[in-house]
Amino acid sequence: MKKKRIAILGATGSIGKSSLDIICRDSENFEVVLLSGHCCREKLNVISKQFPSAVTVLTSEESGKEKLLKSVLETKPDITINGISGAAGLEPSIAAINAGSHLALANKETIVMAGELVIKLAKEKNINIIPVDSEHSAIFHLLKSFTQDNLISEIILTASGGPFRNKTLQELEKVTLQETLAHPTWNMGQKITIDSASMANKGLEIIEACIFFNMPIDKIKVVIHPQSIVHSMIRLCNGVIYAQLSKPDMRHPIHDAIYFPNTTPSSLEPLNFDCLTLEFFKPDTQKFPMLTFAQEAAKKGALYPCAYNAVNEEAVAAFLNQKIKFTDIPKITEQVLQSDWTGDCMNLETVLEADKKAREISKELVKK
Ligand code: NDP
Ligand code: MG
Repeated sequence: MKKKRIAILGATGSIGKSSLDIICRDSENFEVVLLSGHCCREKLNVISKQFPSAVTVLTSEESGKEKLLKSVLETKPDITINGISGAAGLEPSIAAINAGSHLALANKETIVMAGELVIKLAKEKNINIIPVDSEHSAIFHLLKSFTQDNLISEIILTASGGPFRNKTLQELEKVTLQETLAHPTWNMGQKITIDSASMANKGLEIIEACIFFNMPIDKIKVVIHPQSIVHSMIRLCNGVIYAQLSKPDMRHPIHDAIYFPNTTPSSLEPLNFDCLTLEFFKPDTQKFPMLTFAQEAAKKGALYPCAYNAVNEEAVAAFLNQKIKFTDIPKITEQVLQSDWTGDCMNLETVLEADKKAREISKELVKK
């Protein structure tokens, strides 16, 4: 059988590492044709030694971004795993679709910023977008069994609740960067780890689900599930709930995405039910208002989701640089979302302009 040619964007990151692990387990069926990193030159060099025929791109270099977009088009991978963090992942996703490559999409920002545009383009080009974000992967694969119209009454996204689930509002005011970076169940990049603590990650994910599965935001629920074993659920119109369970290991959704549409045996350790406790709680939106702001942004649509993502990225960057407190993240977000973010989300230029404008306003607020 012909090997599947695969591109790994963000190969030096956490998703990149998990992707390389999955691909190395089946090197007879996959050939890595493109690898990208941003700042970690040494790490990218080490990875590229394993795959000497792959094109490598360091996007922080001069014209690095353009080189990446061009390399995606030139290498024409069969599948592109997009594990770039943040808004920088959007244009590479579009390049992959334009190159005729199926997209295993971890970069949720692609959907939050310009989901409708990207999905329309993928349909026109007959490209599959397979979500890698664990919740959306779970729902995507569950939905394959229920294709009849009006069967799904709710999508239920699980959230670990992050490290501050049991903290009071007063305690949240004083949390340190180090505490914020200690996620209880998942080992991920810094940005998404902070988003998990503020629940902005779940905010991004309800928007992602709403756009990706074309469901009204009112039908997307969030439940806190600290063990991160149930990855998400769907409730059917007969009231019955279907869930997907596995260990919290991103290699599962990556495996499922790169073998799609087939379900292929995996050598990952299976979930063991001995001594397994599963808990579920209601999320506290008083403590974690990023959830409510995301719901509002999804309801308003247009460029509001893009602005939500941009302000949050800037606020998180400022928190990482210790310029603001953890609790300033939602304060800044709320303020930025008060601007007018109506506009055409089907136009890439308008989307990128909104992203830029939201960042400028956010930076001003950070300075204050
Ligand atoms: P990491 O920070 O671990 O990795 C990010 C990757 O993107 C690195 O390869 C980094 O390069 C590269 N990168 C950073 N900035 C840019 C840029 N401006 N242009 C191009 N490349 C860039 O993040 P994660 O792997 O944790 O997350 C990646 C994406 O996957 C995010 O969208 C996240 O929300 C999503 N995701 C991640 C999960 C996880 O478990 N990690 C779970 C679900 C979704 P370098 O390191 O060389 O600077
Ligand atoms: Mg997720």
